Amino acid sequence: MPVGRRADSESRKIWRQCREVIPGGVNSPVRAFRSVGAMPVMVKRAKGSKLWDCDGNTYIDYIMSWGPLILGHAPDVVVKALERAVRRGTSYGLPTAAENELARLITGAFPSIEKVRLVNSGTEAAMSVIRLARAFTGRDKILKFDGCYHGHADSLLVAAGSGVATFGIPGSAGVPKETVAHTLTARYNDLDSVRALLRANRKGRKSKIACIIVEPVAGNMGVVGPVEGFLSGLRELTAKEKILLIFDEVITGFRVAWGGAQERYGVEADLTVLGKIIGGGLPVGAFGGRREIMDHLAPEGPVYQAGTLSGNPLAVAAGIAALKALRRRGTYAKLEKLGASLEEGLKAATANAGVKASVNRVGSMLCAFLDNGPVRNYDDAKKSDTAMFARYHNAMRRNGVLLAPSQFEAAFVSLAHSDSDIAKTVDLAQKALKRAGR
Ligand SMILES: *Cc1c(COP(=O)(O)O)cnc(C)c1O
Repeated sequence: MPVGRRADSESRKIWRQCREVIPGGVNSPVRAFRSVGAMPVMVKRAKGSKLWDCDGNTYIDYIMSWGPLILGHAPDVVVKALERAVRRGTSYGLPTAAENELARLITGAFPSIEKVRLVNSGTEAAMSVIRLARAFTGRDKILKFDGCYHGHADSLLVAAGSGVATFGIPGSAGVPKETVAHTLTARYNDLDSVRALLRANRKGRKSKIACIIVEPVAGNMGVVGPVEGFLSGLRELTAKEKILLIFDEVITGFRVAWGGAQERYGVEADLTVLGKIIGGGLPVGAFGGRREIMDHLAPEGPVYQAGTLSGNPLAVAAGIAALKALRRRGTYAKLEKLGASLEEGLKAATANAGVKASVNRVGSMLCAFLDNGPVRNYDDAKKSDTAMFARYHNAMRRNGVLLAPSQFEAAFVSLAHSDSDIAKTVDLAQKALKRAGR
């Protein structure tokens, strides 16, 4: 029987209706909660760290819309900015001063980004950045890592993380072999696997590879941080062969530091993909980098890329408000502290419950893998006990803590989470793990 808390009849009724007209009843597959054998949480509203379902149950939320809500749900600054913006019009399809402001917040945070283009999702940004990298280098091949997710564009749906990992599918139906023939996959945190592919893909002395795209902190196979030397090693290897290094910072941008993973680890990318946080909870993506590369985009250059709603005034207003709130002194120290206390609490909880687990954390993104660890790549992550994870997840949900419904997703702590939210979560986790481990 699918898990829901008591009196979930309203949620169940709505879900049944959704399934009649929407595939699986959801507009993005992981929301179906199938991998934990449950039904979705049907949301009524949310504020701060809390979320309410259609039956009045309250949850401490760690899904946080899968990353964007670093200020928590419906923060006043973003709500007010949206109220002001909506009265001035919802879309013009023409440029605005606000886009300049958001672009400059981004270029100010990321020294490697001189110019940036705004789009509507991370998928769109990743798809476009690959086209740009291929055009700039005149090469077709791209290299990605096993377990990294860069949205659902055809050429990137190979050995992908997130929902693809959750459902254990190798890629996706409907993607022609020819489309992914140019996509190489290496092992995360393993420079030797990269070197081998670089060696095998040269013509004479010239590389056939346009770019290496990587999540500098992997957040779609659970959370897997880069081992010492991995990112700087990629930087060296790519520079040598004039391959573009692309950091997909859709999750990490403005989360693991104001300047993303590039600031945190001191490694600069040639091109950066952004999304999630920069939209303040509205649909935004972006990609940017050095001027000489970005100026290959139309109308300056020959690479076509466009969008009716790109730079949308509501999304841009929300993004500006969110980034300005994040820029305040002390926000990242606070996120680090909250993340650390959840990490320590969960480590103690798993030990006390007698459950083998390894807790990976970078700043405010965290994952408790139910396995022996250490987890340094997707193969390690896959050793986790997903059946135990499902029992753990459902027990937490019954007690009012909402974790992402997959072992291969991150938990996100926001500035709206309180010390007491964390303490309550840890306490419930210990009880849930004790039962789930049996
Ligand atoms: C979420 C995500 C994407 C895709 O963004 P969407 O807005 O869902 O299309 C791309 N890359 C990474 C690293 C992500 O986490």
